[in-house]
Amino acid sequence: MTTNEEIRSYVNKLMSSKAMKGFYSSLIPKHTTANINEVEKELNLMVEEGLLSKEYELICHNDNCLRVLDRQPNKESFKSYYDCSYCGEEIEEVDSNFINERFVRNNK
Ligand SMILES: [Zn+2]
Repeated sequence: MTTNEEIRSYVNKLMSSKAMKGFYSSLIPKHTTANINEVEKELNLMVEEGLLSKEYELICHNDNCLRVLDRQPNKESFKSYYDCSYCGEEIEEVDSNFINERFVRNNK
């Protein structure tokens, strides 16, 4: 099996679980022989092919909290203000260091 086939096979295994809502690219190198660059490349290709979708997660900017505050299909869709209902942190400007990219099932 080539590295790319290995990545796809693992992603398909993940996607076959109904409980699986989404995953981060960093998960794949832990379960395959692929490195993160190979994984990113292949996942983006799968997005282009319509097999996966990308989603952005906004994380609370308080380092002791880091809860997910919002999920959007693109980074531009985040609001200009958030307040975290867990820790009370107010976010007046979204810092891109607190945005995670995740891959989800394509619902289109
Ligand atoms: Zn918080």
